[in-house]
Amino acid sequence: MIDNAALLEFVRRIVAMDSPTESKPLCDAVGDALEAQAIAFGMQAERDPQRATGDHRILRLRGQGRRRILLVGHFDTVHPQGSAARGVRIEGERAYGPGILDMKGGLALGLFAIDAARRAAGGILPDDITFLMNSDEEAGSASSLPLILREAAAHDLALVLEPGRPGPALTIGRKGVGIFRIAVTGIEAHAGAEPEKGASAILAAARIALQAAELVDPHQGTSVNVGTLRGGTWPYVVAGAAELMLDVRVPSLAEQHRIERALATLVAAPRLPGTSATLSGRFHRPPMEATAASLAAAAAFQRAGDALGFPLGLAVSGGASDGNNIAAAGIPTVDGLGPHGSRAHSDEEHVDLSSLFAKCAILARVLAEGASPERGD
Ligand SMILES: [Zn+2]
Repeated sequence: MIDNAALLEFVRRIVAMDSPTESKPLCDAVGDALEAQAIAFGMQAERDPQRATGDHRILRLRGQGRRRILLVGHFDTVHPQGSAARGVRIEGERAYGPGILDMKGGLALGLFAIDAARRAAGGILPDDITFLMNSDEEAGSASSLPLILREAAAHDLALVLEPGRPGPALTIGRKGVGIFRIAVTGIEAHAGAEPEKGASAILAAARIALQAAELVDPHQGTSVNVGTLRGGTWPYVVAGAAELMLDVRVPSLAEQHRIERALATLVAAPRLPGTSATLSGRFHRPPMEATAASLAAAAAFQRAGDALGFPLGLAVSGGASDGNNIAAAGIPTVDGLGPHGSRAHSDEEHVDLSSLFAKCAILARVLAEGASPERGD
């Protein structure tokens, strides 16, 4: 059984502590609080020391070793220093607080679920558990990615405690995200005296923008956004330089490769004589695609949800998480195991309290039963 009051008390405590990604001392303090709670629950603590960001934490609980389960969550938030002073405010069914949804609520319910599962299983879980907590997810997980990939490779299943999707639903797919820059070079000239000697980088960039926008595939779920287009100097100068920035989201590796090839072709042959273009950037978050193994793992959570009166659907998210990189490394991954709520990254960020308690109970039930799929299915 979950002690819901103790869970909520712990959520209150860590939400009342600031942990903006850019502050190492503040993130370290929250990491210490999480680690202390994990140790109180009988877990072994390791850490991955960092210079610029908070130390990443690795909490382990040896089970019977049937399989190896990796829980993943981040304790940095997007909220600036000072926001946490207002702490948690409860209004009816909702608990408001900076970072409570994304994702201190998920970290807390993960720890309490491990403890409840261990007790329900008679002191020892069927599976070995590792809980990886990183401090730089909001900024792209640059310093934690090597650790995440190393731990993922040593586990059979990854469970990511990011917020659940509306529905309520688990996240079984996430789009890959690519940011690209296209720099266009033309030839400057006097716009009135000898325009024929110029080649407009702006016109070339505009054509590239239109062609890039045509790469969308709404049916598949691939989006291409030309977010910025800058160039030129003065109205009376044929523009010598221009630049576009694109955000591309893809549902699958096949779509990622189609976009990569198409963008390379686009810049290799600009249609305007005298201009040239170069492409930089990449997909920094590969798509997380559902597999037979990840769907089998998700089904165990759905069964537990049905049994506990909190049915869960399955959904695909346009946003990225560490689940993208873990799934792309070939580890079956279920995401969205945290609480449900809304308005993450805003002053109105909140969780639905019933979902905090229900998702904790569901995770505890699955961990106690040891329902994880075989690897590489
Ligand atoms: Zn998050």
